[in-house]
Amino acid sequence: MSLARVLPYAKELLESVIHEGDCVVDMTAGNGHDTHFLAEQVGPSGRVIAFDVQEQAIEETKRRLQAAHVSEWVDLYHESHIHVGARLFEEQRPIRAGVFNLGYLPGSDKSVTTTGEETLEALGALLPVLVPGGLIVLVIYHGHIEGRKERDAVLDYVSLLSQQDYAVLQYRFLNQQNNPPFIVAIEKKLKKQIND
Ligand code: SAM
Repeated sequence: MSLARVLPYAKELLESVIHEGDCVVDMTAGNGHDTHFLAEQVGPSGRVIAFDVQEQAIEETKRRLQAAHVSEWVDLYHESHIHVGARLFEEQRPIRAGVFNLGYLPGSDKSVTTTGEETLEALGALLPVLVPGGLIVLVIYHGHIEGRKERDAVLDYVSLLSQQDYAVLQYRFLNQQNNPPFIVAIEKKLKKQIND
């Protein structure tokens, strides 16, 4: 057995909770890899809602989804994930899972990056509509200045979530150089787990 690397482990965690027909959210569509993965997990009876602030990311995600024939059950929004609350209200479906792959679009303008402030606002809107047993996975990139601030803001926020209601995991290799990304996963507890 070898320890799962960070990105494959993020997918394993999501796979373990998502079922066909679920409604899930990609908070940072980027090049569309995660949106595509989520669309395959939920299938045509499910729904994926995805956000990105960059036109280039939206276009690349659209292209990837169309090539994979999964675009019909994905709603792509060219706007900040801080609008997630309003979009989910329109959707009127419980949310099983969400993913935040933070930072900037690889190979693109590094000044367009997620920020601690907006990430926390979006997270705060998503947690209440997550179903019990549902999961949010954040992949945190902290090799750049904004990323370090965002890392600290996210860790402070999730460390204070009630133990009664949420289980919060950090998955991180401690001996790798150059600030490799790490995972924070937030599980909303089922009623029977609340005393765990
Ligand atoms: N999940 C992507 C994939 O599978 O290819 C990678 C995401 S990339 C690391 C981060 C993305 O977050 C960038 O495309 C960037 O434009 C986007 N972003 C930055 N701020 C955002 C915001 N407030 N709301 C939504 N997306 C944002």
